Amino acid sequence: MQKILNYINGELVEPISKKYLENINPATGQIYSQCPDSDERDIELAVKSAESAIDSWSNMSASDRSKIMLTLAGLMERDLDKLAIAESIDQGKPLWLAKNGEIPRAISNIHFFATGIEHFSSESHSMGKHAINYTLRAPIGIVGCISPWNLPLYLFTWKIAPAIAAGNCVIAKPSEITPMTAFLFAELCIEAGLPKGVLNIVNGLGPKVGSAIVSHEKITAISFTGGTKTGEEIARVAGPKFKKLSLELGGKNPNIVFADCNFEKAVSESVRASFTNQGEICLCGSRIFIERSIYEKFKTEFVKQTAKLKVGNPLAEDTKVGAIASQQHFDKILSYIELAKQEGGKLLFGGNTVKLEGENATGFFILPTVFENLPFDCKTNQEEIFGPLVTLIPFDTEDDVLTMANSTQFGLSCTIWTENLARAHNIAAKVKSGIVWVNCWLLRDLRTPFGGMKSSGVGREGGLEAFRFFTETKNVCVKL
Ligand code: NDP
Repeated sequence: MQKILNYINGELVEPISKKYLENINPATGQIYSQCPDSDERDIELAVKSAESAIDSWSNMSASDRSKIMLTLAGLMERDLDKLAIAESIDQGKPLWLAKNGEIPRAISNIHFFATGIEHFSSESHSMGKHAINYTLRAPIGIVGCISPWNLPLYLFTWKIAPAIAAGNCVIAKPSEITPMTAFLFAELCIEAGLPKGVLNIVNGLGPKVGSAIVSHEKITAISFTGGTKTGEEIARVAGPKFKKLSLELGGKNPNIVFADCNFEKAVSESVRASFTNQGEICLCGSRIFIERSIYEKFKTEFVKQTAKLKVGNPLAEDTKVGAIASQQHFDKILSYIELAKQEGGKLLFGGNTVKLEGENATGFFILPTVFENLPFDCKTNQEEIFGPLVTLIPFDTEDDVLTMANSTQFGLSCTIWTENLARAHNIAAKVKSGIVWVNCWLLRDLRTPFGGMKSSGVGREGGLEAFRFFTETKNVCVKL
């Protein structure tokens, strides 16, 4: 059985405890590898290694750091298929999605920030003949990056790429549910010649390894993507220590369909926005608001297209919906299906587990599930489920839909379907979300600010925002 190792001080090493956690393939429910069960002693080693690397890495020219990262991106490109297969097995996502979407995006993350750092500049503010101010943006030092299980390598690289490009050393923790691609990535870092200690990957449990990162005195900035509850706990620990924090948290995103939309596009993209990656993307649209005059027509077509999505072995080419990432998450989604029924929801499609054959008979599969007839303020429509479960809700006016869309504690993303540009701008301005898509979904430009409002997070990542987060700003005022 394959043993995943930590990556500390440029080497692949066992956890000090020598203990391992079982890593399960969600498509079979069987253990297929072992993940280090690290603790604060491993974090201590990682911090020591980062301390010995920080001076030379932060003083290296941006272009030299960039060259190493571009070599790394090239190696990822070479191993794209291997990384995609590993991601699909570890997480349960369809292989085609990993191959065409997520791993290429992880490569783009490295490439984007490697080249971006060469163009990152700081400001100066002249006070005429009296003085000049200039802004220095220096690396922070040692930073912590903690990422979740839904888009493992994609979100892992989204954090560490700007951090190391900006000259920091990183202590990173992938989710112990999906540690495999971060391990393969560590092997590529060694091959690419990333200097020892610049990146340290410590695997293990959140409350043990994650919290040791968050509370460590020498780790002065934390970039975290994960659930809102965990974000709260991280803020509680890091806040009094005045650490810089970037929190990318949960969502309960509205997908608003007006009667004047391009109907075919709105339906097919809404199906995609609902069930891609089994609905386990923080940006999935789980509350679909439909203008009443097209409600029945939209519902019929949406359910028809949903019924065609094949649930199956993630490695099979025709699978559209793979396995739920873990038994625990599978149970959570099933409990929400029961809750939706108790709250009076009418099941339009799904609502069941799927029994596959052969080795997949013990995997965690759930049919894409569609409910209607649930009030906008019931629990099913207010809490993040993070799975293949959506609700359809009719609306009459722009004001009505805005009230319902803005009614949750979350504010991550929103999608609007309309051919009326003035209406799109109006809703975009008034909806409380950090990201708004008009007539599209998940169309991403890495230069744009990314993040949520309300309980969906604090701060923005992406483009220059990420470099600003991972640097310390200092103003120098010189009297002339
Ligand atoms: P969790 O919050 O459970 O975990 C995220 C990471 O934090 C994991 O590595 C986890 O480790 C670790 N962790 C857990 N407890 C602590 C702690 N006390 N201190 C430090 N680290 C800790 O989220 P999930 O992995 O379940 O991911 C799903 C969530 O992520 C959803 O809510 C989703 O919306 C959100 N998300 C947000 C995105 C955004 O950009 N806003 C993007 C993608 C997902 P372990 O796995 O061992 O528990």
